[in-house]
Amino acid sequence: MQVYSKEYYKIMLVNKAAYGQSYSLYEGGYRVKEVVIIGGGASGLVAAIVAARRGAKVCLLERLSRVGKKILVTGNGRCNITNTQLKANCYHTSSEVYPIMGPIERFGYEETKTFFEELGIAFLVEGQKVYPCSEQATSVLDVLRMEAERLQVEILTDVKVTDLFYKKDGWQIVGEQGQTYASKKVIVATGGMANASLGCDGTGYNLLKRLGHQITPTFPILVHMLSSSPYCKMMMGTKVKADVKIEVEGKVMREDYGEVLFTEDGLSGPPIFQLSRIASRAKLEKQSAKVVIDLFKDISYDEMISLLYERIARHPERSIEELFIGLLHKRIIVPVLKAATIVQIGRPCENLEYDEIARIATTLKGFTFPVEGTRGYKYAQVTAGGVKIDEVDLSTMGSLKAKDLYITGEVLDVDGDCGGYNLQWAWSTGFIAGESVSRNGVKA
Ligand SMILES: Cc1cc2nc3c(=O)[nH]c(=O)nc-3n(C[C@H](O)[C@H](O)[C@H](O)COP(=O)(O)OP(=O)(O)OC[C@H]3O[C@@H](n4cnc5c(N)ncnc54)[C@H](O)[C@@H]3O)c2cc1C
Repeated sequence: MQVYSKEYYKIMLVNKAAYGQSYSLYEGGYRVKEVVIIGGGASGLVAAIVAARRGAKVCLLERLSRVGKKILVTGNGRCNITNTQLKANCYHTSSEVYPIMGPIERFGYEETKTFFEELGIAFLVEGQKVYPCSEQATSVLDVLRMEAERLQVEILTDVKVTDLFYKKDGWQIVGEQGQTYASKKVIVATGGMANASLGCDGTGYNLLKRLGHQITPTFPILVHMLSSSPYCKMMMGTKVKADVKIEVEGKVMREDYGEVLFTEDGLSGPPIFQLSRIASRAKLEKQSAKVVIDLFKDISYDEMISLLYERIARHPERSIEELFIGLLHKRIIVPVLKAATIVQIGRPCENLEYDEIARIATTLKGFTFPVEGTRGYKYAQVTAGGVKIDEVDLSTMGSLKAKDLYITGEVLDVDGDCGGYNLQWAWSTGFIAGESVSRNGVKA
């Protein structure tokens, strides 16, 4: 006869009270759930599939009413699933020495391609960025969900896990309503804090902190920057292709090229998102930051001066404002002239002094915006910082603080640039954890 522990009956009672049904810890003498995964996002779903394919009985707990909600909004609904160039300098962590590329080297571009192709997703490569051929994020979620269902992964939604502790022979996982689940191994795949409406409010950090993990300072990244410059509002809605540098305490930290969008309260667009990590970190460390926009990256300052003189020579009768029609977007002409402190812009351009032309050229080559921070987690795509990476064995994603505990995805102190790198981190770490939990002692 199967003998159940006192704890087992307690769990049954708690669950019965919470849900009117019990959650079986044992069935036919075997543990039903070898593995519980907390968080049904990108990394949790991949971990569930990999573990279940290897014979593990998997239960996935998701706090929202459906899994993978965040996947649906990735890549503006197209899902930038990965990148063909998964280079180390596209990944970041606050640990200066710990090598973080292990999971990406183990389950990289080719492995990800094979994994998704087997699920039915054909890859579409645009530059280095990769999307599903359907260009619909929903198809990525659909195939993950269908595969999890085929493998009989038990998916319990509307379960927010609030506590997690180890007791004698396994993990106890406690939901918000007091219901308890038990398993031999646990994967925490709860994501970061970016975009809380998509499920991530940072509870994962608390769960892991209580188990002895350190959480490095977190900050929102891949997000709009806030600027007090009055010119942002004046140019609101305008997009310009430009070279963008970010300076912190007067030092250029990074540069990117692309389309910048001016907004009511600051700056947006791909290069701004890419540099926002530095702006966000500067804010955290109370350092001053500014963005410098070069509107004519292909010509030098001297060439800019010559260009302006040529235009003046061709149309000396035009006003200073009119001089720039056809060269600059109309909405940015006045802000550029104001930033260059040019007055009386209605006068003929032939009246411009050399000093004034030099100031205009300086502004066109380096339109400067102080940056006071970012729009924060609510609008961010990703959270930087998180579970200290040297407390995790990256060859298994196993915690070095607690037995049979695995940690994947964005909850860890690793983040990637814009371009498919963050989902790749989630796929890679999810895959490795899925393999690890099913490596030993799982009955197929
Ligand atoms: C708007 C937007 C666009 C993006 N676009 C891209 C892109 O195109 N390419 C790219 O590479 N990256 C993109 N990202 C980032 C990428 O989506 C994430 O880095 C990735 O999803 C992280 O995977 P994860 O599994 O760690 O966490 P998530 O996918 O966030 O999943 C975590 C899951 O855990 C659940 N959860 C949290 N706490 C609990 C709890 N206590 N109990 C139970 N469940 C819990 C959440 O509800 C969520 O479903 C984007 C992000 C956003 C917000």
